[in-house]
Formats: sequence, C-alpha cells, structure tokens
Amino acid sequence: MRQTFDVAVVGAGAAGLMAAIFAAREGARVVALDGAKRLGAKILISGGGRCNVTHDVVHPADFNGSRNAIAKVLRTFDVPATIDFFRDLGVVLKREETGKLFPVTDRAATVLDALVGAARDVGVEIRTGFRVESIEGSGRLVRSSSRADETSAPHFTINGDLHAKRVILATGGRSVPKTGSDGHGYVLARRLGHTVTNVFPALVPLVLDHWLTKLSGTSVEVELILRGVNHRERGSMLFTHFGLSGPVVLDMSRHWVEARGAGREAQLIANFLPDETFESLESQLLAANPHLTFATFLHRRGIPERLADALGSGMIGKMTREQRRNAIRSVIE
Ligand SMILES: Cc1cc2nc3c(=O)[nH]c(=O)nc-3n(C[C@H](O)[C@H](O)[C@H](O)COP(=O)(O)OP(=O)(O)OC[C@H]3O[C@@H](n4cnc5c(N)ncnc54)[C@H](O)[C@@H]3O)c2cc1C
Repeated sequence: MRQTFDVAVVGAGAAGLMAAIFAAREGARVVALDGAKRLGAKILISGGGRCNVTHDVVHPADFNGSRNAIAKVLRTFDVPATIDFFRDLGVVLKREETGKLFPVTDRAATVLDALVGAARDVGVEIRTGFRVESIEGSGRLVRSSSRADETSAPHFTINGDLHAKRVILATGGRSVPKTGSDGHGYVLARRLGHTVTNVFPALVPLVLDHWLTKLSGTSVEVELILRGVNHRERGSMLFTHFGLSGPVVLDMSRHWVEARGAGREAQLIANFLPDETFESLESQLLAANPHLTFATFLHRRGIPERLADALGSGMIGKMTREQRRNAIRSVIE
C-alpha cells in the first residue's frame, strides 16, 4: 500500500471530503484518513436527516470569528458556487420557505454519497478505521541539496509510517463525539504548535431541573432574556423531558454557556407574552372578567393550555394584589 502522499487529510467528514476533492482536483495525490469505520455520521444526522446544505443568503455576520477571514472564504465559494458544485455532482438543491437549501431527495445520504463518490472519482484514497494518533513534523521544508528532493520530500509522518508533504486537519469539533469527532484533533493541532481557541458548546438544548419539564412536548413563543449579559432572543421554545429546546433556546445557548464558562452571573428569564409589559398586563387583568381563571386569561392571549394551567388556576376576582403581581411576574419575568 502506498504510504507517501502530497496531502493527507485527517478526518473525512464534510470539511475533509471537500478539502480532499479540491486538493485532488489540483493534481495532488491525496489520502483521506478517518477513524470511523463508516464515513459521514454527522452529515447523515444533519438537518434532521435531510442535510441543510446552505442558505440562500449567507453573510459573514452569521459566523463567529474574524469577519475578514470569513468574508474571504464566502467570496471564494459563495452560495451560487455551492449550488453549482452540488449540481455537478448530481445533487439538486431546493430552497424552502425559510431560505434553507436541502437536496430535493430530502435525504442527507444523497449529499454524503455524492461527496464520497466525487472524492473517489478524482483519485482520493479513502482509508476508514484509520484513527490518527500522532503527526510528527515541523511543517517547514526539509532542506536538501537538490530542488527536486526539496519539493518531493515528505514533511509529516502520521502514526509513524504514513508520509505526506502537507496535512489538512479536518477532525471536526466536539459535538456528538460518537460520530468520531472527540476532540483529539485539538490535541494534534496543539502538538504541531498551533494555538487552539477556547471552544464551547453552541446551538444546544439546555438541561433544566425544574417543574416546567413536566410540560414536555409543549411549545410556546417566548422572548428569552439573559440577565447579566443583556442578550435577548425571540422565537419558539419547546419543553422537553430534560429541559428546554427549540430554535430560540438553541440560539441563546452559546451566550448562556459562554457566560457560565466565564464565571459570570447570568440568569435566564422567559417572557411568555413578549409583547406585554408588567403594567400592560396588570391593567388588562384588572379590567378582565373576575370570574375567569388566570389560566383562561393567559390561554386567550396565546399561551398553550398546559402552560397556562401550570402558571395559575385561581379566579382573577379572588386574587389579592400580591397574588396578582406574582402571577404576572411568573408570566413575563
Ligand atoms: C444534530 C446536528 C445537526 C446538524 N445539522 C446541520 C445542517 O443541517 N446543516 C449544516 O450545514 N450543518 C449542520 N450541522 C453541523 C454539521 O454537521 C457540522 O458542522 C459538519 O458536519 C462538520 O463537519 P466536519 O467535517 O468539520 O466535522 P465532522 O463531520 O465531525 O468530521 C470529522 C471527522 O474526523 C474524524 N476524526 C476525528 N478525529 C480523528 C482522528 N484523530 N483520526 C482520524 N479521524 C478523525 C471523525 O471520525 C469524523 O468523521 C449539524 C450538526 C449536528 C450535531
């Protein structure tokens, strides 16, 4: 088996396969190494199994990191180029109402098969079950007497016996480690002298030890406010058996995790009636039919029945001032 390559790509997920395809298209001899026995576990779970390939509008501001570096990447391979790239591989994308682009087959496997097929077609050698434990090499050119030797000399040695002039680390992040991306890539990068930025979970549901988890399956439109950080997000929140999920929670999660990781005092507040203030809700409550229950009052304003029942079942007319004010706070603070 050949053991010397121009480029070794470590990790053959979405990023590694793309890197391998483009390097091989430039004429490089490329090997793609992946610790997993079967490729593309993360592609297969992406987009709920349908793989949301891109969005019809993509801005640098949508990404975390250096705006200039991101803008450069997006200019080099923009949305039309992405659509063309996949169309050339036989993957036709459709735009959904949200602006998200999915394969017309609604199957993430279409995307995975196309990438693996394209890599093989252009001569990439794919080795699965090949976990990279060590990469030795400085990344500097090996000096030698002849220019030919200098350019052909391998500069990196992988796991002691595979050589490559260049290495592309595409080992993924840390999400869903059972898909193969368990963070060892960071170790490899550090050993090669790179600085690894602080990484933390984002776009994740939140675990909550609270009676609200009894409402598992209920979803509600809310404004989430992160006190102490002064960040707000509006959208749909889903109660689950372990805590909170839904788009607004996923969007808020990185702010919460970052604040907690930095040891900052932060408190997550849900406003179940985001268009109301304490005062507007109190005046509506004072004007409401006193025979209505507080739950019915809330339900009529769009709060799902199960949540409204949980927030208060007393009759409005029998509430003391203190009870009324506490009830309002439970809804919007
Ligand atoms: C539930 C979920 C849904 C998602 N939905 C979408 C979506 O719809 N659209 C979207 O654009 N993004 C989505 N994402 C994000 C997207 O899946 C990832 O950003 C993308 O797959 C990352 O690709 P990657 O190649 O960087 O890393 P990965 O896909 O994690 O690939 C890294 C590869 O490296 C291998 N590897 C790791 N360490 C080693 C080692 N030491 N030696 C050898 N191999 C190694 C792993 O086995 C793995 O195959 C979703 C993510 C999740 C978790």
